[in-house]
Amino acid sequence: MREPTPMMKQYFSIKDNHPDSLLLFRLGDFYELFYDDAVTAAKVLEITLTSRDKSKDPIPMCGVPYHSARNYIAKLIDNGFKVAICEQMEDPRAVKGMVKREVVRVITPGTLIDDFGMDDGASNFILALCEKNDKTEVSYADISTGEIFAFSTDDKTELKSEIETLGARELVTNKESEQLIHRIYNDPPLYTVFEADEPADYDYEADVDEHQAINLLLNYIRKQNMQELKHLKTVEKHRINTFMKLNYAAISNLELLENIQTKKVKGSLFWYLNRTETPMGKRQLRKQIERPLVSKQEIVNRQNIVTTLIDNFTERERLSVILNHVYDIERLVGRLAFNNVDVKDLVQLRDSLEGLPELKAVLESLKLTDNKTFQNFDSLEDAYERLVVLTDTPPKTIREGKIFKDGVNESLDKLRDISNNARTWLNNYLETEKERTGIKNLKIGFNKVFGYYLEISKGQAVNFDAEKFEYNRKQTLTNAERFITPELKEMESQILTAEDDSIKLEFDMFTELRTDMMAYITRLQQTAEQISTLDTLISFALVSNDYHLTTPEFTENKAISLKDARHPIVERMLNENTYVPNDLTMSDDSFIYLITGPNMSGKSTYMRQVALIIIMAQIGMRVPAASAELPIFDAIYTRIGASDDLSSGKSTFMIEMMEANTALQHATKDSLLIFDEIGRGTSTYDGMALAQAMLVYIHDEIGAKTLFSTHYHELTNLEDTLPGLRNVHVKATEYDGKLVFLHKVKPGAVEKSYGIHVAKLAELPDRVTELAADYLTSFENRKQEAPQKAQNDIFQLELPLDDSETVSKDEANLLAELTSLDLNNMTPMEALNTLHKLHNQA
Ligand code: ADP
Repeated sequence: MREPTPMMKQYFSIKDNHPDSLLLFRLGDFYELFYDDAVTAAKVLEITLTSRDKSKDPIPMCGVPYHSARNYIAKLIDNGFKVAICEQMEDPRAVKGMVKREVVRVITPGTLIDDFGMDDGASNFILALCEKNDKTEVSYADISTGEIFAFSTDDKTELKSEIETLGARELVTNKESEQLIHRIYNDPPLYTVFEADEPADYDYEADVDEHQAINLLLNYIRKQNMQELKHLKTVEKHRINTFMKLNYAAISNLELLENIQTKKVKGSLFWYLNRTETPMGKRQLRKQIERPLVSKQEIVNRQNIVTTLIDNFTERERLSVILNHVYDIERLVGRLAFNNVDVKDLVQLRDSLEGLPELKAVLESLKLTDNKTFQNFDSLEDAYERLVVLTDTPPKTIREGKIFKDGVNESLDKLRDISNNARTWLNNYLETEKERTGIKNLKIGFNKVFGYYLEISKGQAVNFDAEKFEYNRKQTLTNAERFITPELKEMESQILTAEDDSIKLEFDMFTELRTDMMAYITRLQQTAEQISTLDTLISFALVSNDYHLTTPEFTENKAISLKDARHPIVERMLNENTYVPNDLTMSDDSFIYLITGPNMSGKSTYMRQVALIIIMAQIGMRVPAASAELPIFDAIYTRIGASDDLSSGKSTFMIEMMEANTALQHATKDSLLIFDEIGRGTSTYDGMALAQAMLVYIHDEIGAKTLFSTHYHELTNLEDTLPGLRNVHVKATEYDGKLVFLHKVKPGAVEKSYGIHVAKLAELPDRVTELAADYLTSFENRKQEAPQKAQNDIFQLELPLDDSETVSKDEANLLAELTSLDLNNMTPMEALNTLHKLHNQA
């Protein structure tokens, strides 16, 4: 290989420091990528791969134009790459030889400060985690808004669940903890193993002690952005117990943020509740849904604000209009902190601040400024005043002038006057000179060689006394003479430099303003936070009003009473008034509903509606019910549907058991459990045994409020032995040989399984449904003939379906082992393992 050129040497020395990033190397008007970086980028960006030095040792290369680099960078980031931006640090025209180049910033998915493909409705978290003793410390931040949090836990399930909920776009860890990432994620996001070299400087709440993780995080971010984080807020403790626990499974199964099938927002609780006007409000709403409150006082506080907003229509409308003009202040502040705002950003900030004094006045008139949520609302008039100087039509860059309004700066006005009015100015001068010299056809012209000149026709020039009028002859043409004057030269230099000068002056004024605005960062953040909360609460008021929702009451005695409750989203999707409302009554000693009913009758809708109502209640919303009394729940755990996670290589049944396990291990008396047809993923008796074991465990050991749907009719016998369990069924009736779903939840077990009717509805061949009906009759007859088993031992199973009396030796052993089990002292996991063992023996 040939000796590399000096430029490629420079490239290598820079690339060596950024082995894990794609290096965008600035060459004039382009960013170029070389070697493997070029091959990768060309593929991702679908641009042509060329080569440099085609003749000798070709180097793979591709490039993107500087002015449109943004979209390309966004695409690389979106594909999970880090991008190092290497700039020319000198003006190439001003230096001889090699231009100095440096990496000014490394852009990564988790350290975005502007909008490189960032979703404005979701947080953009980067997360650091490290193991310390037997705990794991976690710290995460959204650099675009300056929020930062920390927590630690020694509970691996809790860790996994919290981390999954955050949905970080990028991870940082240290060497010791790298394995942990693979234990948490099947498919981890982009991550870097990193060691913090110096202690970072930050404020933190008193109970934050995860300094190792915070240090790791802040050091990493600083290394990528190469700047101080001026807008970093105080590190907040992420307090797991001050919110209702909702793990990733619950959030996705209950479709809180997106529809589980379509993965779209439509059909989710977020979709139902979101009437926010600002991106900040939208993000805040997501957070509220992911973390409902558990403090009655805080919930009731939100309820009160919502009620005030519902009751005062005019004021609420006014507030909505003002919010509609508010941009993403949080992210604008993020860019401000990084000195990364352009004119448009500050104009948006000004327009956002314009309505705040009125907003404050409306809040005051509603007495909401007495509420701690809006106390000390800062309407930032002084910050607004600083920004009124900006134009209404911002230029694209800060190097083309037209940033400030007229009348803002005297020198700027003068400079603008000169360049704007150059023509009038010259005309006026011409008129004066015509007068002074008496030459009527005097003209002004411009040429590249000597600039502006005065021209006198040959005829007139003969008698013209150039010296008397201080005219210098510059050029003689066949029919004219051209002169310059000191005034004209003076004017010319003013005109030509005025534009340059005004652009430069505006640039300086803008960078100064930008620096000055940094002083407002903290105040802007506080106001932004209050605005986003207001935005969500107005959204709550609008939704409550439109769907005739009811304010829930919170009971101290742990009883639930829902009257005429509806599923908010199914109701909204259905035609008007076709939704069948249902009740629910539970107390401390009657807390399990065992729900039977045919497929499609509405079991799952009913269970979900209860969960959604509880979540809505605990975020301070009104709820879809005629009346609602609720205790405060500490968690909701779900085991719903067959959310096959094929990519993880785990079977449906294994996932089902893992979700059930999380619920059984973590639920308390104050939790809600939703188990939809547990045991479906395995053989009937296996599944039934497990379902029954779980019910007993929940009943005896946990005492959580539980909604448990099943198609094992045998389980309904449990009502006799478990006093806290009640059978309910969702009614369907036959009409004219067809099944009619009434969607009404009634006491007692369902009398009949309507599977065959549903099959008919699905238009299976008549022959199949007829045969099935015959088989059903014969199965039912056989079952009645089978000897009745004692029901008091709840774990005594009706094992063999055929009536054969002969029991083999293996079977006898199996039975012996089964009956010898001490079920009351087994954890569900032990039960499961034992069951597996027995299963393998059989
Ligand atoms: P299951 O879990 O019993 O199989 P689902 O809960 O999935 O049944 O309900 C089936 C369909 O019935 C739902 O998609 C919904 O359209 C309708 N449905 C359920 N409950 C109601 C109700 N209370 N009022 C009106 N329609 C309902």
